[in-house]
Amino acid sequence: AAVSIDLVPLVTASHKLRLCRLPRVAASHELRLCRLPRVAASQSAVSISPPSYYSFLLLLVPPSASFRLLPVGDKSMDVLSIAVSPSVFGNFPTKISDCFSFPVRKRKKANNRRFLFDSANRFPNRFSLDPKIQAIHLDEVGADKPESITGLRLKDVDWPSPSDEIPFWKREFNTWDANSEVPVHIEKDSDLLHAIHVTAEMAPIAKVGGLGDVVTGLARACLLRGHKVEIMLPFYECIQKGNIQELSLMSTYNSYNDGNWIQTNAYRGIVSGIPVILIEPMNQFFKGDDVYRGSYNELEAYLFFSRACLEWMQVTGTQPDIIHVHEWQTGALPLLYWDMYHYLSLQKPRIVLTIHNMEHYGECRQEQLHKCGLDGSVYASIDKAIDDRTIGHNPERLSLLKGGIVYSNSVVTVSPTYLNETLCSGWLASALITNRDKYHGILNGIDTVMWNPACDVFLPANYHAQNTSGKKVCKQYLQKGLGLALEGNASNNHLSDRVPLVVCISRLVAQKGLHLIRHAINHIEEQGGQMIILGKAPDSRVEREFEALANLHNKGSTVRILLMYSEELSHMLYAAADMVVVPSIYEPCGLAQMIGMRYGSVPIVRKTGGLADTVFDMSDQSQPEMANGFVFEGIDEGSLCRALDRSFSYYREQPIEWENIVQKIMQIDNSWNKTAGKYIDVYNSIRVR
Ligand code: ADP
Repeated sequence: AAVSIDLVPLVTASHKLRLCRLPRVAASHELRLCRLPRVAASQSAVSISPPSYYSFLLLLVPPSASFRLLPVGDKSMDVLSIAVSPSVFGNFPTKISDCFSFPVRKRKKANNRRFLFDSANRFPNRFSLDPKIQAIHLDEVGADKPESITGLRLKDVDWPSPSDEIPFWKREFNTWDANSEVPVHIEKDSDLLHAIHVTAEMAPIAKVGGLGDVVTGLARACLLRGHKVEIMLPFYECIQKGNIQELSLMSTYNSYNDGNWIQTNAYRGIVSGIPVILIEPMNQFFKGDDVYRGSYNELEAYLFFSRACLEWMQVTGTQPDIIHVHEWQTGALPLLYWDMYHYLSLQKPRIVLTIHNMEHYGECRQEQLHKCGLDGSVYASIDKAIDDRTIGHNPERLSLLKGGIVYSNSVVTVSPTYLNETLCSGWLASALITNRDKYHGILNGIDTVMWNPACDVFLPANYHAQNTSGKKVCKQYLQKGLGLALEGNASNNHLSDRVPLVVCISRLVAQKGLHLIRHAINHIEEQGGQMIILGKAPDSRVEREFEALANLHNKGSTVRILLMYSEELSHMLYAAADMVVVPSIYEPCGLAQMIGMRYGSVPIVRKTGGLADTVFDMSDQSQPEMANGFVFEGIDEGSLCRALDRSFSYYREQPIEWENIVQKIMQIDNSWNKTAGKYIDVYNSIRVR
């Protein structure tokens, strides 16, 4: 049945002008966008096919017209963001990322929208309700010129200030729908499989760093290719249940821990479009305010979790083709699988281990491994799980990560350069060299659904590569909200007035180049730039040190050091920034530089690991077409400063070229869609038919 959208002439003057989009957009409908009808000024009705009410509702308006879309019958639908397509400027959009959207006015309660668009139960006949949308042709308003759209955007921004009672990043945001923007042209694979990730993190509900992003992004990419994918995660007490859709208790079973069988609940739910299975033991494990560092023994908790996932598969008869484990936390699972559950009823699964960071080895004493039911002494040999560094010590120790490497069918790390680095240095190098045939380097992607400036709900203004004016709004928004100096008046446009804003969004740990981050603060200030650091330090000494820096600098108008974790603020910062600095000492892959590029923030990075695989210096004549940032090699402050200086000069002296780079990097495809296929190849190479 076709859904019709009625276009009727404007009837009341009290209606405000806007184009809008429905906030809920389902997967796989992006292609529909280009099939949506072009609305002529003379047209009074158009028809689009269902489930169009779930699609990105965008009418391609002629340059001289604008339309208002109003829901009929329920005001709470009338709270949307504006979506303007480049068709306003004469182009034809082919995908959602070609459009940008921004909120029109104060948002109403997120609940309202969710209620309307999520709740099939409350509105069993919503199909008849939602599509009743009127698009009103605003002849009276006259031609809608591009400038007026920009004007509208600025006018409607609800500007923040540092004195706001509720900080701007804690405001209520539009319901974010992961299904909303799906990249176009994703072909389904012909040979489909079932993979279950077993992981300690998943974005956004239990994210600490890149691991969470990677699991979610890879899972989504594989789902879109038609595979069956689930994510098994501890049901941390800190997970906000409101972020899980369709949460329900699926099974209660017992799983082993230290001589006892612990009653365990397995919940099912959907998180940002991805099926999850949450494991909740009825003991103290995974209780606390944060994902990590609760008051329980973390090693024991993850040993329990690894076994509880296999136990769940066993009791429910679930046999995926692939069990994909991540990091040391789930490193014992391959041991448990091959030496225990494979002798029970699990026959089919094969195991992939991804190492996201070789800094943590999962050090484990033999008797600790006993707690999950394995005989630790069996693994205390060089070809199994012994930590090579402890050989001859009393006692010798095991490494869960090494055990995972030995016992998995395939091992992946997160960039080709990091793969080479790990084969050449560190005590695990020998285990990796021994297992070289099954060791792969696959560059991480970013989740372009979660990270999309064209429809990011956390941004005060959306934008895309063809029109980045929303990015400037984001910069001003952050400057105002944090009390940073605003840029000089554009009308007396001196180049020196251009104030580059550099952001650094990072866990504050030694790996990230703390001395360089510290040094950048002073240098950027001296050079007339601005810097915002968003970071959390797990180590209390580092935390105190950065607190002291924050006390010193946050009073001025050029630097803000924000010691917290905020997903919302991180999105805003990537959008507001001119540059994103990632001065890591080592970096297995790094996501900040890729996310930064997606948001048009030029990366300044140290040449290491995945940073070396994704950022190429502007002055590199050997491959000018790849140039997308500023790269330095040394770990000394001078190397960083020279890169910062080069970027500042470029930004100030070549504003047009700078804008071209911004547009270019926004269009670089660092998405999972590009690299997920390599994981599928790995899965297929080991699966059992
Ligand atoms: P790592 O995994 O070593 O932390 P990555 O660069 O791979 O580093 O991933 C870091 C991820 O965590 C990015 O998505 C980044 O935006 C996010 N992140 C880091 N610190 C914060 C913070 N304080 N608040 C919000 N997001 C953060």
